[in-house]
Amino acid sequence: MSAVLDTLNSFFLVELFKGLALTGKYALRRKITVQYPEEKTPMSPRFRGLHALRRYPNGEERCIACKLCEAVCPALAITIESAQRADGTRRTTRYDIDLTKCIFCGFCEESCPVDSIVETHIFEYHGEQRGDLYFTKEMLLAVGDRYEHEIAPNKEADAPYR
Ligand code: SF4
Ligand code: SF4
Repeated sequence: MSAVLDTLNSFFLVELFKGLALTGKYALRRKITVQYPEEKTPMSPRFRGLHALRRYPNGEERCIACKLCEAVCPALAITIESAQRADGTRRTTRYDIDLTKCIFCGFCEESCPVDSIVETHIFEYHGEQRGDLYFTKEMLLAVGDRYEHEIAPNKEADAPYR
């Protein structure tokens, strides 16, 4: 019986007309396709993209080299070395993130007591060689300096939920 039905369906092009009916149903509706990269969808303040190291408004780097982010990182992507400065404060002498290891879990950002290491909304970056995705302290601070005007409001928007 099912063989007969299959034959009749094929003969009368039932599947084809089903497909055309579905196309017709959506043809005149509002288009929902986003024309990336000209158009972009809204992004959560919690989006976890490229990392950045932040500074205080007076230019002092926030990171106090507590190494919590390094300890919590499940991918062992963060490498920190630190030293005491002449004024007795401790700062990093090396802060590297290997983005080829990073899984963008956000644990480093959550663990940081001074909101120093953060994940920005930047996802349009690439490396042409493996080493291009090895971000040093200088590179991370440069990202932070450049995007602080977006990082700060995002942190503020997310603050009630942390
Ligand atoms: S986002 Fe996760 S995997 Fe990436 S550096 Fe931070 S803690 Fe490590
Ligand atoms: S970025 Fe934050 S958690 Fe990591 S060492 Fe610096 S102060 Fe500590």
